[in-house]
Amino acid sequence: MHVPLDHHSRTPVYLQIKQAVLEAIREGRLAPGARLPATREWARQLGVNRSTVAMAYDELLADGVVESFVGRGTFVARQKLAEVARLDERAARRTPARKMVWEGMFSERAQSPVVESLLDLYQVSTLRDVISFSGSFPDAASFPTREFRNSLHFAERTLGDEIYRYGPVAGYERLREYLAQRMRESGSEVTAENIIVTSGSQQALDLIARALISPGDTVAIENPTYPGAMTAFALAGARLLPIPVDEDGLCVDVLENVLKVQRPKLVYVVPSFQNPTGACLSWERRRRLLALAREHNLPIVEDDYGSHLRFDGDALPHLKALDDTEHVIYVSNFSKSLLPGLRIGWCAAARPVIARLTAFKQNNDITTSPLLQAALWDFCRRKRYEAHLEKIRPIYRARRDLMLRRLAEDFPAETVWTQPAGGLFLWVTLPPSLDATELLYQVRQQGVVFSRGRLFYSDNPKRNTLRLSYGHVTLEQIERGMRVIGTTAKAMLGRATGRTAERFHSHTVPLV
Ligand code: PMP
Repeated sequence: MHVPLDHHSRTPVYLQIKQAVLEAIREGRLAPGARLPATREWARQLGVNRSTVAMAYDELLADGVVESFVGRGTFVARQKLAEVARLDERAARRTPARKMVWEGMFSERAQSPVVESLLDLYQVSTLRDVISFSGSFPDAASFPTREFRNSLHFAERTLGDEIYRYGPVAGYERLREYLAQRMRESGSEVTAENIIVTSGSQQALDLIARALISPGDTVAIENPTYPGAMTAFALAGARLLPIPVDEDGLCVDVLENVLKVQRPKLVYVVPSFQNPTGACLSWERRRRLLALAREHNLPIVEDDYGSHLRFDGDALPHLKALDDTEHVIYVSNFSKSLLPGLRIGWCAAARPVIARLTAFKQNNDITTSPLLQAALWDFCRRKRYEAHLEKIRPIYRARRDLMLRRLAEDFPAETVWTQPAGGLFLWVTLPPSLDATELLYQVRQQGVVFSRGRLFYSDNPKRNTLRLSYGHVTLEQIERGMRVIGTTAKAMLGRATGRTAERFHSHTVPLV
């Protein structure tokens, strides 16, 4: 069969072959039951790799258009032909129709400025042609993909169709048991009953907001903080009550004063390697925060995205581990320390809280993939998670060290920065005359991006701040990228700023 291949086309060659076969079937040149050429023979005729033809056949097989029999070859399927013909007919009959007009269709909530900011925030991961200190992504080159695949196969083989059904809403039982056990080992009094598995910790935050926040309630949050938490609470109708952060984390004395005059519904805090500053809430402040929570009957949402990513110094106890009065709603995930694409996180809290979250999750996505939960459980029980953490911590430490060296050597004299003992990012404050938006505009032209600090503030944004993530940049990229940012900042010092910032368009750069 002749296939006019176009090696310059944007359609991959294997898809061109697939399309040629489909066309031959539609036109009757390949009848039901006809045998397709053997892959080796056809690859030789077409002058392509055998695997290219094999991929085309795999595609056709997956569509059910052909059937394959070991030792006999690949044949045009009999029953699928009618469908191919019908598709063809429908395509022929298709006439241009008026497009749906979406303007004016969206809900009031979907038109809120919060949604606009969300649309901006999450364009992050698509940029490929840049050195990106943006986002808070773990190192993809270190992903334990082979080991995780083994666990997937194990789950698939041994757990049978259990993992293909709807699973329990609160999560795969053995994973909940494992998480509870792990938390008990670090001092928290929890059982599986206190745990709900969520689709990443973002979903946990969203469910917490739905379960606890009524429109008009206030939520005390660090300023700056993780934008995903701000949007989760704001979309539930909360008013955000910003509390400053310093090198010891949330300023608990400020919160204490605020509590004398206001009654926030809850306080949200990232105690370990705070996003975005990298600060750690001190022992003393952890103790005082809990005392305040008890005094005011104030729930604490503890977002622990990264205590397992500590590479320097001794671990501090989780707030949940200090909490014997059920004030803390603990949220964590496997997104930064293992594989973000699993979308697995969890929440540990008092049973009445877990019951409400479970109800909302039922209505939200019913369950987190049982297959992935079971595979993750298998991965963890074989101690592969610990092994992975051991492997990545020194990688992040080396990157953090290099970032600190470059900050000291390449950045303007008045620049100050945090020195995180773990996590994925550090926080830089440039001399006050510099605007990070302007700087971003200029370094973007040179193939480097970072997150502007202003995006993390709910109030009073500092224009001269930026967050630099070292999670997914190599040492060579750090060398080059940091030099670009530092020398550009130096060159900007003293010059009038603000001009190009106006030309800056949010859709051209990643923002978080
Ligand atoms: N909390 C914090 C502090 C984060 O930085 C992030 C991710 N950037 C999340 C929660 C959400 O994590 P996940 O990918 O598990 O939803």
